[in-house]
Order: sequence, then C-alpha cells, then structure tokens
Amino acid sequence: MSYKIAIASGKGGTGKTTVSLLLFQMLQHCFSEAVSLVDCDVEEPNGALFLKEKKTIKKETAYQSIPEIDLERCTFCKKCVSYCEFNAITMVSSVKMAEVNESLCHSCGACFYACNAGALTEKQVPIGLLSCYDTEIGSFYEGRLKVGSVMQTRLIGELQSFSNEEEGVILYDAPPGTSCPVVETIHDVDYVVLVAEPTIFGLHDLKLMVALVKELSLPCGVIINKSDWGNAPVEAYLQEQDIEVIGKIPYSKSFAQGYASGDLLASLPDNIKEGLEDIAEHLKHKRVEQ
Ligand code: SF4
Ligand code: SF4
Repeated sequence: MSYKIAIASGKGGTGKTTVSLLLFQMLQHCFSEAVSLVDCDVEEPNGALFLKEKKTIKKETAYQSIPEIDLERCTFCKKCVSYCEFNAITMVSSVKMAEVNESLCHSCGACFYACNAGALTEKQVPIGLLSCYDTEIGSFYEGRLKVGSVMQTRLIGELQSFSNEEEGVILYDAPPGTSCPVVETIHDVDYVVLVAEPTIFGLHDLKLMVALVKELSLPCGVIINKSDWGNAPVEAYLQEQDIEVIGKIPYSKSFAQGYASGDLLASLPDNIKEGLEDIAEHLKHKRVEQ
C-alpha cells in the first residue's frame, strides 16, 4: 500500500517546491521502497526544471466532458439553465439560441439530468497534458494546464489517477494557497508537510493552512524554511496548536545560487543535508506508525 505525503504552504515563495525536491531525493536514500514525486502545481509546474536526467515514460492528454445542445431537439424549456450552478449555459428562447460556455462548465452533469428531451450530448475538450518521467531519483509526474482552461482542480484529480499505479511513498507538491486545487491535492493523503517561513506574513499564511488541514482532519508537521530569518513567533503558535516542527532549513547563499542556476540537488550544503536526513527519518517513523 502506498503512503502519500503532501508538501504544502499557505502561499507561494516559501520554498515548497525546493523542499519537495529535496525530500524526493532524501527519502529515496532513507526508505527501502520506491519514492515518486507528483508536481500538482498544474498552473505553473517547475519541478522538472531541476531534474536533469529524465526520460519520458508516458504522456497523456486530459479531457473534460462538456454538453453540446442539439437545437433541433431542444424545446428551450430552460430547465438545464436553472440546474447549472455555474451559469455556463446561455439561452435566448425567442431566437432559439443556446450555447455552453466551456470555460465556465465544470462537467458536473446536472444539465444531462435535467434534460428530458434528449437534446444534450457530450463532447470531450482537452484541459491539459499529463507526463511521467523516469529520473535518476525515481518517477516524476507533472500536469500542465492548457492555456485558457480553468480546470485546475479537475486536472489535479486526473494527475493523481494518472500516477496512482505507483507504490511506496508518493510525494505531492501542492499548489500554493488554500483554495480548491490545494484541497483536491491533499484531501486523501496520509500526512501533510507544511512549509513555513518565520516571518509575520509567513505566520499569517501558516495559520490559514493549519485551519485547512485541521478542517480536513489530516495529520501534519511543519518545516521552517529559512529558519534563521525573522523572529515571528511561529514556534510558539505551533506549540499552542500542538503541531510538531519536524525540521528547520537555514538560509544558505550557495544553496540559493544553486536554485537560481537550476542545480538545486547538486548544491546541498552539509548542514542542510543533515537537517533533511533528520526530516526523512522522522517521516519514515510516520510511515511505520501508519
Ligand atoms: S433542458 Fe434540454 S430541452 Fe430544455 S432547454 Fe435544456 S437542452 Fe433544451
Ligand atoms: S455539465 Fe454542469 S456545469 Fe456544465 S453546463 Fe451542464 S450543468 Fe453546467
């Protein structure tokens, strides 16, 4: 049975992708089972940029089903319009005009349920591309949302299905923030690693993320990134919330330079490496306790 860990943060720029890639590498050393990484930030996937050696294993286009209205059969009763929670259907009965706005349609199927006239058929519309790579560390997956599509949440669901044949430990690099795509990414994982910065803004976003994780009743721990920055009372807050700090990563200029040049995994200073080994051991215990 696989063990799923999501790496999430309440906002972008906290180092979530960096931590995901580092854990991908470090867990591979510490665990006796396969580790794979899934980049769920489908609007802006960038994990692949840091994985130099990679071979494409499979690629697939993801689709959503959109209703098409047959104007010959439609009675213009507008029942489908009233069933559509997303205002995706426009209809002007007087001129027999009806159309579905693809970018508003969420493929919920309510209009098909509403229509008794057999006037609706399904058409498949592409929403993005799913890819799987074999890398020197393990399997890496990404989803890339089609330009113009707003179906992030749906594409993340498709990406998770695309990668669910993986066994062992699966890491999900979640999109930033606390909205629907994040909920879709983390809702059924076994453990959530929250990445936070010890600044006032970092504390604010951490609180939002902690509220979400608690709402979903998911176990979590926090990695404090750039732990030597700022003096916001992040640790006091976590103590008050009874949430464990599973590791700290100090700021390193050489590491930041490695990130900027795309050489993240080759430029790991010893103190960061040791800290990550401790975090990996910690997660290993969580896996055993499962
Ligand atoms: S429910 Fe069916 S028949 Fe009625 S307006 Fe919609 S498509 Fe036309
Ligand atoms: S499938 Fe759902 S969202 Fe799309 S048009 Fe029908 S009712 Fe609206």
